[in-house]
Amino acid sequence: MKLLSVIVPCYNEQENIRDFYDELMKNEAFFKERDVDIELVYVNDGSTDKTVDMVKELNNKDKRVKLVSFSRNFGKEAAIYAGLEKTAGDYVVIMDCDLQDPPALLPEMYKAVEEEGYDSVATRRVNRKGEPPIRSFFARMFYKMINRMSKTEIVDGARDYRFMTRQFVDAVLSVKEYNRFSKGIFGWVGFKNKWIEFENVERRKGETKWSFWKLFIYAVDGIMAFSTIPLSFAAFTGLFFCLFSFVFIIFTIWRKLAFGDETNGWPSLVCIISLISGIQLFCIGIVGQYLSKTYTEVKKRPLYIVKEEI
Ligand code: UDP
Ligand code: MG
Repeated sequence: MKLLSVIVPCYNEQENIRDFYDELMKNEAFFKERDVDIELVYVNDGSTDKTVDMVKELNNKDKRVKLVSFSRNFGKEAAIYAGLEKTAGDYVVIMDCDLQDPPALLPEMYKAVEEEGYDSVATRRVNRKGEPPIRSFFARMFYKMINRMSKTEIVDGARDYRFMTRQFVDAVLSVKEYNRFSKGIFGWVGFKNKWIEFENVERRKGETKWSFWKLFIYAVDGIMAFSTIPLSFAAFTGLFFCLFSFVFIIFTIWRKLAFGDETNGWPSLVCIISLISGIQLFCIGIVGQYLSKTYTEVKKRPLYIVKEEI
């Protein structure tokens, strides 16, 4: 008998716990036929609603349902990592609780691994139907930018919904960084990967946990985790302005010698000073951002703290 571990990060998903279970178990027969047991691990990311009670209720009826509960909200990345660490399945799949990751794709994913020899099967949405246009616009910009800046390919519309072999999971777990950006790490570890596309499905119940601001921070973190180009930007603009001022100094001295002293030029002085000090602060800011990441990395705090496990 082999084991498929399904990891589901949940943050205030009380309305979806039961629905998810029902939808997932529609695949039960398929996997039973192939001698694969399913275990379902809900990772409660510090929910303040009845999420934990709902999971316990399911666990009373079906022992294949398990719970890892955090002491507070640590974020989805931490929940994914905890799920990968706590499960021992021969196959592991990560899915959202709100049914935006259709469980009906699982048989196809399993076949890609077992019959076609892939190590992981990833999914991407081909459209962003039902999403506010402005959010889609910024999301597209983000993917364009990060792919220009990073050597690891980060696919537009990629979900965290991914079917993995044990070997692939162990590789992901060996990446021990604190500031995790799973979408990048999955690509970084390599292996043979297949992409499956599907139409965007709207969240079943409840509301999205991602505000625009949270997404913006996530995007900046992603770029910083997979690229050091912003740092080079600081260095190159510095170099550019050094060359520029060198030419400007020579020009100013030449003008003074040729035409004598002039006291005008005050507006240009103000412009240059404010422009350059703006760029300087911006560059110091970039360096500061990387420094703060390095700081949290060096502290080596645990990614999450477990309060309860069933
Ligand atoms: N989630 C989580 N911790 C958080 C935020 C979200 O575990 O701090 C979970 C959430 O319960 C859901 C998944 O991550 O299962 C995706 O969240 P959501 O549906 O809100 O994001 P969206 O689909 O809108 O990008
Ligand atoms: Mg969702």
